[in-house]
Amino acid sequence: MTNEKKQKSTQVLILGSGAAGLSAAIYTARAGLETVVLTGPTLGGQISLTAEIENYPGFPEVLSGVELISKFQTQAERFDAQIDYDSASRVDLSVRPFIVETEGTIYSAQNLILATGSKAIPLGVPGEEKFTGKGVSFCATCDGFFYRGKNVAVIGGGNSAVEEALFLTRFADKVTIIHRRDSLRAEPIAQKRAKENPKIDYLWDTVVEEILGDTRLEKLRVRNVKTDEVSEIPFDGIFVFVGNRPVSELFEGQLEMENGLVKVDPLMHTSIPGVYAAGETVDGFYRQVVISAGSGAMAAISITKDLE
Ligand code: NAP
Repeated sequence: MTNEKKQKSTQVLILGSGAAGLSAAIYTARAGLETVVLTGPTLGGQISLTAEIENYPGFPEVLSGVELISKFQTQAERFDAQIDYDSASRVDLSVRPFIVETEGTIYSAQNLILATGSKAIPLGVPGEEKFTGKGVSFCATCDGFFYRGKNVAVIGGGNSAVEEALFLTRFADKVTIIHRRDSLRAEPIAQKRAKENPKIDYLWDTVVEEILGDTRLEKLRVRNVKTDEVSEIPFDGIFVFVGNRPVSELFEGQLEMENGLVKVDPLMHTSIPGVYAAGETVDGFYRQVVISAGSGAMAAISITKDLE
């Protein structure tokens, strides 16, 4: 540890500023506990990459992930939670107060809530890394605008793929959903909307084998998994939505985990007293804003009860 770093101590330090982290902050701050939230790379995390949210209770109007998360933030700050735009690079759970280090600050915290969420899984094919930001995107909200009048592909068959494909039809002339099977995993309501949208087309039973281009993506080499036929199809851009995995590397070897998820009891206690976890750090199944928000609140309530 370097000595030049700022030192900061707090009663509750929350890692992550998604629905879980900010809900937890609303509850701990409102309970009078000194609360600091470390945002991680993006305020709101995965939610801020979501174009439209229409199933968060209390908001019957469709709103963007950024709009929703900024309401969480305003509410947390109203109770004096401090939000630091910084990311943890090292976490030491072997001492208490726990130590969390960022590039410029060493935090010590009596209690920690791990709410680092999840991030997109890449396809893992040649060309993907090279053309990320040059035709390959993981965020329709961020990059959709650049594809006005263009021809794009969306990879995946889940809710994210179908909903983001629908969002992309606002900009692109044509959106092709490329899915490795012949039926979608997405909910029926999303499937129905996509099937009714004339701009959306499908390439079934198809996997992307390589992303090709010179300085930016120009075409995809795809393979039909039933016929084994390989072809090259030109696209202006592709959006990858093939699932997510937890962001939990910093905690590995320090507390009980399973498949990258931090293990918690029903009250959101991890295997270390004083360390709590919530949201997609502990739940890889539901992946819903309302569930993450609820589990963040649970972790916060457990802290206040434990301190009593
Ligand atoms: P998901 O449901 O896990 O779907 C991932 C999709 O990618 C699946 O169709 C899968 O194919 C495909 N896939 C996985 N690996 C692949 C690979 N290597 N190459 C090609 N295709 C691959 O992920 P998600 O769509 O991100 O959704 C995650 C969770 O969030 C779900 O529980 C979902 O319901 C939830 N979610 C909800 C909403 C909402 O409530 N409105 C919105 C977005 C997400 P297979 O189908 O063959 O497995």
